[in-house]
Amino acid sequence: MRILITGGAGFIGSHLCDYFIARGDEVIALDNFITGSPDNIVHLKNHPRFHFIRQDVSDYIRVEGYIDAILHFASPASPVSYIAYPIQTLKVGALGTHKALGLAKAKGARFLLASTSEVYGEPLVHPQREDYWGNVNPNGPRSVYDEAKRFAEAMTMAYHRAHNVDTRIVRIFNTYGPRNALDDGRVVPNLIGQAIRGEPLTVHGDGAQTRSFCYVSDLVEGIARLLASNETLPCNIGNPNELSIRTFAEKINALTQNPAGIVYRPRPVDDPSRRCPDISKARRLLNWEPRVGLEEGLAKTIAYFADRMKRK
Ligand code: NAD
Ligand code: UDP
Repeated sequence: MRILITGGAGFIGSHLCDYFIARGDEVIALDNFITGSPDNIVHLKNHPRFHFIRQDVSDYIRVEGYIDAILHFASPASPVSYIAYPIQTLKVGALGTHKALGLAKAKGARFLLASTSEVYGEPLVHPQREDYWGNVNPNGPRSVYDEAKRFAEAMTMAYHRAHNVDTRIVRIFNTYGPRNALDDGRVVPNLIGQAIRGEPLTVHGDGAQTRSFCYVSDLVEGIARLLASNETLPCNIGNPNELSIRTFAEKINALTQNPAGIVYRPRPVDDPSRRCPDISKARRLLNWEPRVGLEEGLAKTIAYFADRMKRK
């Protein structure tokens, strides 16, 4: 296949590039580096089946030749980044999705949207199933991301219904692993960075809020299976192992033997209290479930960050 990956120099995008290159496909990554980094794809630079386009996905996209699939992953993704880039986040979710869908229509390509568990907002249903419509603040600080992604889902379904574009929507839950940006404020890289430096870990609020963390290789496998499936309605991909942020911080301190403990900081506005995917749909339709346990995934991620911090 010849695959275009927008946001291909980001954390997840670069792992998708690796996956499809390893499978024998041709990959065109497109990125403007607003939150991603050339470091994430430097190893692919001279690969004969890898190409890179540096541009904003919200501008007109020109690609010569055929494209079989477009994976639309461009968007700031951490609360710190999307609150720092509110207009860019709204634009990439709206205009960028429009451009990427327009290209899919022109090329007759399959289109897969990276949506998010944030479309469920502060969920009133646990665990979150795809048929839950969510509880979202439409104008709070996180709305720039949540509403952009909800708009992107609506735009994707409109292109599917009105133009018969062959579309897929993956709702990604918290994912972690190597190439997570150390400085984007997400809890996994933030706490691991603090632990390696021997600092106390910053836990927001009392740390009773929950998340469930999926290792990136599991996510990528789920995305590849969804892309190959016939399912056009949204599909959750994530790890249903739910734990509190306080428990998570204690785990990081134990794994890194960090004696500095935990400090408590104010909770960000509209920080969801509980989040856990119901993955019965992915299990049923894709025969997919996560394989990498938290301790195993964290060990790999800690080793990656320790090495990177030593080299910088
Ligand atoms: P990331 O910030 O590492 O990657 C996003 C990439 O998109 C970056 O390389 C960035 O430079 C690029 N980008 C942003 N705006 C762009 C634009 N206008 N034009 C071109 N490139 C642009 O984040 P990530 O964690 O890899 O997230 C990738 C996708 O997955 C995002 O769409 C995000 O919303 C979604 N997602 C991620 C998670 C997660 O836990 N990591 C959870 C839910 C959804
Ligand atoms: N969090 C924390 N300390 C940090 C960074 C984040 O306690 O240094 C909390 C954050 O408030 C949220 C959870 O960890 O409750 C996950 O945050 P993240 O930014 O990774 O993404 P989110 O799941 O909120 O999109």
